[in-house]
Amino acid sequence: MADKHVNASHDQSMKSWVESANDRATDFPIQNLALCAFQAEHDGHSHGHLGVAIGDQILDVSTLAMSGLLGDPEGELAYMLHAPSWNFIAASPHLWGEVRSKLQEFLHADAGGGQKARRLREKALTPIAQTKLILPMTVFDYTDFYASKHHASNVGAMFRPDNPLLPNYKHVPIGYHGRASSIVVSGTPVRRPLGQQSPPDAEPAAGPGFGPCKLLDYEMELGLYVGAGNQLGEPIAAADVAQQLFGMCILNDWSARDLQKWEYQPLGPFLAKNFASTLSPFVITLDALAPFRGEGPLRDSGDPQPLPYLRGSGDWNIDITVEVWIQSEQMRQKGLAPLRISRGSFKDMYWTIDQLLVHHASNGCNLQAGDLLGSGTISGPTAEARGCLLEITWQGNGPDGKALPRKPIELPSGETRTFLADGDEVIMKAYCEREGYRRIGFGECRGRIVPAPAV
Ligand code: MN
Repeated sequence: MADKHVNASHDQSMKSWVESANDRATDFPIQNLALCAFQAEHDGHSHGHLGVAIGDQILDVSTLAMSGLLGDPEGELAYMLHAPSWNFIAASPHLWGEVRSKLQEFLHADAGGGQKARRLREKALTPIAQTKLILPMTVFDYTDFYASKHHASNVGAMFRPDNPLLPNYKHVPIGYHGRASSIVVSGTPVRRPLGQQSPPDAEPAAGPGFGPCKLLDYEMELGLYVGAGNQLGEPIAAADVAQQLFGMCILNDWSARDLQKWEYQPLGPFLAKNFASTLSPFVITLDALAPFRGEGPLRDSGDPQPLPYLRGSGDWNIDITVEVWIQSEQMRQKGLAPLRISRGSFKDMYWTIDQLLVHHASNGCNLQAGDLLGSGTISGPTAEARGCLLEITWQGNGPDGKALPRKPIELPSGETRTFLADGDEVIMKAYCEREGYRRIGFGECRGRIVPAPAV
């Protein structure tokens, strides 16, 4: 892996005065500095403050900035940190390094700053478990890609066994415009959607039905928050992507497969996708992820080279492990721990984050700070690395060319699942590990299914 992006801020020996941040297992060591926002209560009302995760605590960044502990309290940085979201900072790449170094300085085990700093620093901490986290960014636009060749091949094979990957796949990153209004933060219940469902395969003449989704699924994805953005009509050059990639998060792109199957042709996903998308509450900056960046992915020898505008520096392939866990209502009642049902890596994606971004703006479409680009379902080459139930429970096609019956997942409660049931909670995790560096975690992205509205 290339180490040219690593600097002193990634030094694994650095410690924080927040003891829990020095635990080797934490998602949030002082080398991470995951950005978040939360409801701060004072004088009987509450409003959004910015924070940073450190160990098992949230540090109130807005209060520190106003107190002059992160530089001039009247300065540009303090002004931008007294905002309800990180969008202003995202739009200002010239401040990213300063935010990281100021927070690291303040949280450093050797931090000085005198009596005032010592008094304030304890007061500015709240345990994560007692914090009401809200979305860290205002997302104006959301685009979802399809960047895993393994996912695209598996799903393609369900519909086109002889020709799973369409001929455009290796030339053009495929995506569609999602909807920002239904993006929710981790922990928000997700209501089973109602919708039109295709007639049963065996009875095509029966006509479609309308009712609660029967094939409810999740999609394990990572989200990318756009930084500076570009002017309408001005593509983003591959050389400028570092200013445009602010941070990443976990994204659960909930999917209603029966609705999807019926509606997706010819214009693509619509109501099967836009009833809810859940984000983890932390922005993991590309700076924090630098030690896990590398070359690739390697294309097969027969694969076409990407067109010149998509070639870039070739080192935006990030090794991020992703996991999906599930806990049913029965499991919760019986005190059974969640079950891990998949584990994959972001480095198995066919298209990298710089390519997704450059491609999105290549026609002059303007991206703006805080826009969210979803990676698409992260599936790898092995069965264990499949990022949605549609793939996990799929057994391929029989000799007659027809799909074999789905193989359900067995839960420790004795229940089985081919798709999600009401009361199921899906828990997604993502983290980076590499010898010589501290673990960088993304936190969790949780969502529990609640019953559909009455028809
Ligand atoms: Mn998706």
